Amino acid sequence: MRNLKPADENTIVFYDGVVDSKQVKEDDPQYLVRIASYRPGVVTAYGHYNAHFAGNTFANAVSAGHANPTKADLLGLYRYKAKPFQVLKAQLTTDEKNRLISTCQNCTINSVNTFDHVLPKEEFPEYAINPRNLFPSCGECNGYKSAVWRQNGARLFLNLFVDALPDEQYLFPDVTILGDEVKVSFTIENRNGIDPFLFELISSHFRRLHLLKRFSDNCGDIITEQINSILESKATLEKEQIRNITIGKANRDRQKFGFNYWKALVDIALISSDEFYEYAVLQ
Ligand SMILES: [Zn+2]
Repeated sequence: MRNLKPADENTIVFYDGVVDSKQVKEDDPQYLVRIASYRPGVVTAYGHYNAHFAGNTFANAVSAGHANPTKADLLGLYRYKAKPFQVLKAQLTTDEKNRLISTCQNCTINSVNTFDHVLPKEEFPEYAINPRNLFPSCGECNGYKSAVWRQNGARLFLNLFVDALPDEQYLFPDVTILGDEVKVSFTIENRNGIDPFLFELISSHFRRLHLLKRFSDNCGDIITEQINSILESKATLEKEQIRNITIGKANRDRQKFGFNYWKALVDIALISSDEFYEYAVLQ
């Protein structure tokens, strides 16, 4: 899980680009005329959005309260597969080395195949295509998010454009071997003095996206790869050397993919377990 660099603050340029790409609808000849009439309101709303973005005050966001046909018209501007959105996705998911970050950062499990509307588009249709409101995501995370995004004045999900993730460990894997089965379970705990509000937000994000169970269910390939790595290395390297290389590589991954990157933490937990090493060399 890592932060992504947001779109440029000149968000109305993106909005105008999407509007310009729209064709006249034969069954609704007035569509583009109505869309043009919304622009001043959208410019005002985008100003509010940028202010929330700058101060990370999204928990206080107030919907413009659009009803149909305005709401349906604004929602109709969003189409994930349309070119402006694919260009935006590529821009948001390309890292400083020009490599694609193809994994959903909300979960770091599945591939990106949609945009998560940070402020839900049903409640905030005015931000349906605001590029700073569109976070590259997987469909599974997007499905878990639903329309409930704040409770008691606090947000329930991380916004990885603006919520800076801590360089402290909060995710803790635990390896158990029962018979022939290796299991990894996870907890999140504030053992390292993370700001309590940020930790609560992280906890809520993990809980509502079912991340601990999803991580646990997805550990099979990591276990297999590490067993293969141990089996391949043990003829030429000592256990301690294998352990140091594995942990060193995992820590490099954490620098790149996030301090609490679950796959790297699983690698460290597995190789740190004597029981797992004995299990692996017998495969
Ligand atoms: Zn996801």
